[in-house]
Amino acid sequence: MADCAAWHIRQWMTGDESLVRIGPGTGSGTEETLGCPARDAAKARPGIRTRVPSRLPHEHLETFTLGPVCEVLDLIEFDGEPLERALDALLDRPRPLHPGHLAYAEHAVRLYAGHPDPQGLIPVKPYWVVRKDNGRRWELYAWWRRYQSADGSVREYRRLRHADARESTPGEIAIAAYTAAFGSSASWPRHWSQEFTLHASPSRPTHVRIVEVGLGDGSRSVEFEGTVDEAKAYYDAHGDAHVRSVVKGGPERPGPACVDCKQFTGCGAVRRSPGALALPSRGLPLRKVSVSDLRYHAVCPAQGFLRSLHLPRPDEYSDAAKLGQAVHGWIEALHRRDGWPACTMADMPAAGENWTQGRWQVPDEEAELGRRMLLHHVDACPFQDSGLVERAEPESLRVVHDTAAQALVVAKPDLLYREDGSWVWRELKTTRTPSRRSGDLLDTYPQLALAVVLLEQGALGGDPDGSRVEVEILRPDGADPHVIDPTDPERLTKAQSVLRRYAGPWRADHTWEARPGRHCRSCPVSRWCASAAPGDDMEEQA
Ligand code: SF4
Ligand code: SF4
Repeated sequence: MADCAAWHIRQWMTGDESLVRIGPGTGSGTEETLGCPARDAAKARPGIRTRVPSRLPHEHLETFTLGPVCEVLDLIEFDGEPLERALDALLDRPRPLHPGHLAYAEHAVRLYAGHPDPQGLIPVKPYWVVRKDNGRRWELYAWWRRYQSADGSVREYRRLRHADARESTPGEIAIAAYTAAFGSSASWPRHWSQEFTLHASPSRPTHVRIVEVGLGDGSRSVEFEGTVDEAKAYYDAHGDAHVRSVVKGGPERPGPACVDCKQFTGCGAVRRSPGALALPSRGLPLRKVSVSDLRYHAVCPAQGFLRSLHLPRPDEYSDAAKLGQAVHGWIEALHRRDGWPACTMADMPAAGENWTQGRWQVPDEEAELGRRMLLHHVDACPFQDSGLVERAEPESLRVVHDTAAQALVVAKPDLLYREDGSWVWRELKTTRTPSRRSGDLLDTYPQLALAVVLLEQGALGGDPDGSRVEVEILRPDGADPHVIDPTDPERLTKAQSVLRRYAGPWRADHTWEARPGRHCRSCPVSRWCASAAPGDDMEEQA
């Protein structure tokens, strides 16, 4: 197995480095672009901890979407509880469930437990763990659900997914397949920093299977099926490199994963920006938040919470929203070109062509509207004088830790570019409304308020004095460019007041109650909400 030269224990951490533990979820997996190699390497060392533990309180409600589902399945499969009685346990947890979470958990359990296993496999309570020593102690494991044939010759892992069955990465599958093939029976450690307790396995498997199960729709897909020798070959081809890369680690890459990283409190890569959300300091649970999250909460707290749990939801995008995404994607691709040439008419879709595709495909007449919007981008393109541009980052992720609000604030500006040492934060908006807009842009688009505050704080680096926020509003019949100076005290005060209006109620909320209304008609998580307002669309969905 790998050497671990690249990662080293940070001075604000302590503990025992000799135990290395890798499961399929230890690396970033399919979320690789949002993950952080340094976080994964620290996570792979369960004996490492911060010298000063966080004293922030925990959330009142359960936030682990699949945790309650697995608890009930354990009662059914390992303790022989009847389904209805096992479900009752969800009402009696120390950490209560949001009503929408409860509805989802009940649905998931009934869907999963209600289908008898076609292979006749039986649930297995002990974990399967492979342990090796080479100066360090290595453990490979998976917490996925485990099943085997009566004679123990077939072992199967089932990975539960929130919505539909999805592919895991080859590295994740390899770890699971290898662990199923060669793992010993093991008890979960009393403390995560301790080793698994291994037991003698009564039989050895000859075949293993890795299955993904969607708890939203009941879908299943077999990701690997083969003999133990084939599992070994698959691990050699895909797993060893994955494990090596996770354990070796790499540079810090701040992102959404910071929120549950054990290096978070001392990590020098995370910019600390007290007051980014314009709230007073309070000792509250650390939360991750984007401006979209704040907007969802403002519409309906329950919707915001259920979205954050990633509950299954139908396609939530209207044609207008899809068109907006398609326009953004087209311009983003142009802005990623080497040397940042200015966009020209020749770069835009040809007349009469439906240029939209994939997830953001819209009908022909909508595509034509979008094409007209794109043509107006040419005059508004920020790279007209690209000689001034020192660096450009389309759709670049930025996170800051608001140490007052205890919030990891996540933003993805449509475009960040640097001119003369200062960052310009550019947002692109599309609208089919022909008239020029009225009202304050900071009220209409609260992400601009966040841009103003972060630039004024110098939270992106560079020289704040030369920074600006640019807004390009594309319409079928024109484009409205706007510039906001973050150093203008009036604009800054306004931006802070907008953020406070959104973030204040969100930060204070710990019950996330439903606020039914007309918006229920377009709510993507209404399936899980007993409070949904009645209406034609809602009846259809029911
Ligand atoms: S706090 Fe964030 S950037 Fe730092 S190691 Fe953790 S995940 Fe990476
Ligand atoms: S259906 Fe309505 S009340 Fe329920 S979560 Fe959605 S918006 Fe809120």
